[in-house]
Amino acid sequence: MKINSLNKYPLVWQKEDFMIKIFCSIPAVATGILLKTKKASFVIDPGDGILRDLHNEIGPENILIISDIFISHGHHDHVGGIWSLLTYLSVMKRKDDLNIYYPKGCSEIISIYKAFKEVYSKEISYKINLQPINSEKIFTRQSIKIKPFKVNHNEIINGNKKVAVPSIGFKFSYQGKSICYGGDTSYCDALVKNAKGCDLSIIEAGARNNETSEMHLTINEATNIGKLSKEYFLVHIPK
Ligand SMILES: [Zn+2]
Ligand SMILES: [Zn+2]
Repeated sequence: MKINSLNKYPLVWQKEDFMIKIFCSIPAVATGILLKTKKASFVIDPGDGILRDLHNEIGPENILIISDIFISHGHHDHVGGIWSLLTYLSVMKRKDDLNIYYPKGCSEIISIYKAFKEVYSKEISYKINLQPINSEKIFTRQSIKIKPFKVNHNEIINGNKKVAVPSIGFKFSYQGKSICYGGDTSYCDALVKNAKGCDLSIIEAGARNNETSEMHLTINEATNIGKLSKEYFLVHIPK
């Protein structure tokens, strides 16, 4: 069942206390997602505006209980809000460690982390644990099982040179329910495999026209993958 494909944000899905809210996902602008259970608060792809959206959604104090950030890839529309979120946590005197999971080789996250440490070396109130991901090994955080998987996203540099971007998707499983988030990707078997049978899949449909692209999925491709799950959202659709 398709729930929404018209870029009407926010998109919310909830089964018992397993909730995901997509504040927005607009290509070249911003993606920002909150995943919550009674115990857990995760942020997925902290694009521009994430601090404002979290502030509105869970309130100024609860932002401090976010334990883990999951990054699908380093493009600015997926990480553009991380600097302000990290700074806010320090201003608010966070004490607990913060984990940031990202695809190994994601230079944007490493550079942002280094610059952040340099700028705020005297005042950072908490420890950031960088967690580069280079395998599909399942791990558990706050009773949620997380399975990362490699997806197929590219960018064009120097006018016409195609370069692979380190990119992953995540499958989150909790109390018998599962959510698959593919990040940005062109058609790939790993996404098909992981979306299959999920309760919800969040699939990008970022290709500008309905021609197969090496950067994004077309609406048709994304719909076909989404249909493998019980419910799906199409996101990242160009205006
Ligand atoms: Zn994107
Ligand atoms: Zn991208």
